[in-house]
Amino acid sequence: MLKITQSSMKRIFVWDYKQDQYVRKDSTCPKCWKAQYIDGMRTKESKSQAMGVYLEHIIGVNPDARITDLPRKAKGIKTADHYRIDRQADMFRGVVAKYGLKLDNVQVSLTVPWIKGRVELNGTLDILDIIENMAHNVDVKVCANVTSDFGEFQWAEPEKKDYMQAKMYDYLFYRKFKKHMKHVFLVFDYSPQMNHKEIIYDIGENDHEQIEYLIESTLSILIDWHHDGYPTVPSVDDCRYCPFGSREMNAYEKKIHEGFEFFGDRSCEDFISKAE
Ligand code: SF4
Repeated sequence: MLKITQSSMKRIFVWDYKQDQYVRKDSTCPKCWKAQYIDGMRTKESKSQAMGVYLEHIIGVNPDARITDLPRKAKGIKTADHYRIDRQADMFRGVVAKYGLKLDNVQVSLTVPWIKGRVELNGTLDILDIIENMAHNVDVKVCANVTSDFGEFQWAEPEKKDYMQAKMYDYLFYRKFKKHMKHVFLVFDYSPQMNHKEIIYDIGENDHEQIEYLIESTLSILIDWHHDGYPTVPSVDDCRYCPFGSREMNAYEKKIHEGFEFFGDRSCEDFISKAE
């Protein structure tokens, strides 16, 4: 059964804020995509992703997290970033109290069929809570600095963000329960200022249509990739975290992944030939 998730679609499409629509990325590597989303191979987390998984674990939102500690300095001393994330856990508890969150339902999986017996849609909510009769999808995010407006994962300008995750989860929830959710992003950083932000995303009237369009487009692209034998498309972004490649990871990221088995600790043949 093929599972389509928002993260698998996010690897193929990016939100173009100026055009107010999703556009296809030209850097997606089909071989890497297949490894992750069809063969179930594990990709490597970036530093911010690893920090996020660690924070989710220590605040009790992700009990089965793959990362339960972070790389340490000599004699087991925590890095400054590590201390900051530990402090942000305290901040999270304050936010929990403010919203009256119960944290009873964490890592909630929503699955609905798309093509019976062949394709299903799936999403896993960090926290699902009911507040004043309204279902809340509460998502915990970590970034290096919430005031930085650099890159796809910036949180400085929330109006420019891609909310595919909220749109997809709302779509799944609506298909199952015929109700919308309120979407709350709790964003923490590990900058010296230890900032945090709470961002609410209201579902737009075209959001479900956009999700259906992305699902259909993803399936159509997959058929093409399948016929082409899932070719390799090397790029700095994809090769760095791909199960087949490790060349571009920095020392900290390599430490995060010590002890984990990947396909191999070297780049795939195509990437090697193009990198040389
Ligand atoms: S190492 Fe690069 S080119 Fe090779 S499969 Fe991974 S992303 Fe694609």
